Amino acid sequence: MARALIDDCFAHHPKRLTAAEALELLRARIGPVVERETVALAEAHGRILAEQVVSARDVPGFDNVAVDGFAFSHGDLAPARPTRLALMPGRAAAGHPFSGRLARGAALRVLTGAPMPEGADTALMQEDVELDGTAVVIPPGVKRGANRRRAGEDVRAGQIALHPGTRLRPQDVGVAATLGRAALEVFRPLAVALLSTGDELREPGAPLAPGETYDANRTILFGLLRGLGCRITDFGILPDRAHAVEQALRKAAAEHDAVLTSGGASRGDEDHVVRAIERLGQLHFWQIAVKPGRPLAFGRLGRAVFIGLPGNPVAAVICFLRFARPLLTALGGGRWPEPRSFLVPADFAMRKKPDRREYLRARLIAGPDGRIRAQRIEREGSGILTSLSEADGLVEVAEDTTHIEPGDPVEFVPFSEFGVTG
Ligand code: AMP
Ligand code: MG
Repeated sequence: MARALIDDCFAHHPKRLTAAEALELLRARIGPVVERETVALAEAHGRILAEQVVSARDVPGFDNVAVDGFAFSHGDLAPARPTRLALMPGRAAAGHPFSGRLARGAALRVLTGAPMPEGADTALMQEDVELDGTAVVIPPGVKRGANRRRAGEDVRAGQIALHPGTRLRPQDVGVAATLGRAALEVFRPLAVALLSTGDELREPGAPLAPGETYDANRTILFGLLRGLGCRITDFGILPDRAHAVEQALRKAAAEHDAVLTSGGASRGDEDHVVRAIERLGQLHFWQIAVKPGRPLAFGRLGRAVFIGLPGNPVAAVICFLRFARPLLTALGGGRWPEPRSFLVPADFAMRKKPDRREYLRARLIAGPDGRIRAQRIEREGSGILTSLSEADGLVEVAEDTTHIEPGDPVEFVPFSEFGVTG
C-alpha cells in the first residue's frame, strides 16, 4: 500500500540510487489505492481490470466450419484418388445447425460459422471440390479435421482469460465479450492533481512579458496522464511563493490520490514545492544516478502520494516515463509496467561517465544496408522539447557502458513501450 511510502527506511536510503534500485524500492512499496467498480464493456476500454476473468464456457462453444463449402466424414475418403460423395438435401449455416445426421458416404452444404454437422469432421471450400449434379467430388490429400474449428480452441471453460492489473485494450475487452461477459470489474480511475510552478510561466495564448515563458509541462503531462486513464484536475500555474504553493498543495492533496508537480523541486531559493511537502507531509528526495534527471522528489501529503518532477521539459518527461508512470500505474491497480527495449545498431558514437544510466533521444532510420539503426538527436539540452518531438523513443545506456561506437548494439525503447502513442 502507498502508506508504506512513509516508512522511515526510505528516508535513510543511500544518497545515490541506481535507476534499478529506485524502481525496485517503489515497486515493492506501491499498491492500488483505488476502489473497484463494475462497468459495461463499452466503458471498459483503457481501464485497469480488477478481477481475474475465468471463462464459464468453451470458446468457440461448438465445433464449427471455417469455410463456405461442403462437410463430410474424413473416414469416407479414399486415400489416393478423388471421392464422390452424395449431396444430402439441406444445409448448415451460421446460427442454423443441420438438424439431421450426415449419412455415410454423404456430404452437406455448409457455410462459414455453421456448427459442424453430426457425422462430419472435415470441410472443404467450395472452390476446392467439383460439383457434379447431386454429388461432390473431393480431391485426394485432404487432412482429417481440415477447416474445422474445435470447441474451446480459443478459450476452455475454467481457463483464466484475463488477469487483474491488465490495462484493457480493445482486443482484451473483445475476449470478455466472447466469454459472454457484459460487464467487468475495473479500478476506478486514479484522481491526479496537476500543477506547474514558476513565476516565469504563462498560459499558452497569453502575452509574454520579458523573462517569461509558456508552460509546456502541464500540457505534456496532461496528455501522459490521460494516456494512463487518470482523472485529472488542472490546478494551473503556481507562483514562486511559499504560501500560495502550500495552499494549493494542501487542497490538491485533500481531493486526489496523487499530486503531480513540475518545477520548483530542487533545493534552490525559489523551489518552494519540496519545502512545502516537508512542512505538510513526508518528503523523500532521492538522488538517482540517471541523466537527464534531477533528484526525484516524492512523498506523501495527507492521503495523497506526491511526485515532484523537474522543471526542464525533457527531464520532466523522461522522469515521468521512467518513474512516475509505473508508480501511478501501480497506484491505480495496474501491473508494474516493464518497458521492453530492442537491440538496434547505433548510428552514433558517444563517451559517457560510468555509474549512471543515460537516456538519449533517438529516432529510427534505415542505415545504408537498409537495416534499422538508432540515430541520436543531437540537440541535447534538457529544455529542448522539439528533440523529444522528433524522437521515436529513448536509447537506454547502461551504467557500466562508457563508450558507444557506430554499429554497436544499443537498447532502444520505443515511446509506445512507455504507453505513449499518437
Ligand atoms: P525549476 O525546476 O523550477 O528550477 O525549472 C527549471 C527550468 O525549467 C527553468 O528554466 C524553468 O523555466 C523551466 N520550467 C519549469 N516549469 C516549466 C514548465 N511548466 N514549462 C516549461 N518550462 C518549465
Ligand atoms: Mg522554477
